[in-house]
Amino acid sequence: MNKGSLIIISGPSGSGKDTVLKRLFIKMPELEFSISSVSRAMREGEVEGEKYNFISREQFEQMINDNALLEYNEYCGNYYGTPKAPVERCIASGGEIILEVDVNGAANVRKNCPDNFSVFIAPPSFEVLRNRLTNRGTETADVIESRLARAKEEMVRAKEYDYVVVNDDLDTAVQELAGIILAERHRVDRNGDILD
Ligand code: ADP
Ligand code: 5GP
Repeated sequence: MNKGSLIIISGPSGSGKDTVLKRLFIKMPELEFSISSVSRAMREGEVEGEKYNFISREQFEQMINDNALLEYNEYCGNYYGTPKAPVERCIASGGEIILEVDVNGAANVRKNCPDNFSVFIAPPSFEVLRNRLTNRGTETADVIESRLARAKEEMVRAKEYDYVVVNDDLDTAVQELAGIILAERHRVDRNGDILD
């Protein structure tokens, strides 16, 4: 059995992570996605259990106390975290699981979990990022400003990642991300069985 992989994906809000990942899962349906627990309100169009389990702050704090999270962070006033059990199950069975987490979550996963690689999804420019967030129309002007301020801090930390994909043309970005995942599958240290 090949070793499983934890695939960490980050990028500023509005850089296009969800859009790229939706296309990636059509191309590579064998990949798993880690459904995060979150204390923020559901946006229009979001579905419970698809990308997030929407829970209260109290329920989230209970998960922290129960040591049920692989990592968690507070982002723009809300808790976001990765439930531990599904990730451990996937890795134990040799699967690949995508964790879409912020830069702090990514740093914690790198520190605590082996067999990971990380990809930073960057916008082509700050102006494009602002336009995408505004046009998405899911946040108030205040929230957009706080996410843009956060984006500047996050861009500085892109150097902590193994790979960067600039999401300018969507098809190209999806192809580049798929290429990275394919190349990682062929690392010698992930293919001990074949070589033995
Ligand atoms: P994130 O998940 O990083 O917050 P989204 O996937 O929600 O970002 O994308 C933010 C907005 O930008 C959405 O309205 C989406 O349709 C749009 N978008 C994403 N990728 C592209 C792209 N390559 N070209 C143009 N618009 C894009
Ligand atoms: P959004 O509210 O736009 O869905 O997500 C806001 C930020 O939280 C994004 O940077 C996203 O990557 C991050 N995020 C989503 N799920 C998790 C998680 O489980 N843990 C951490 N640390 N960050 C997350």
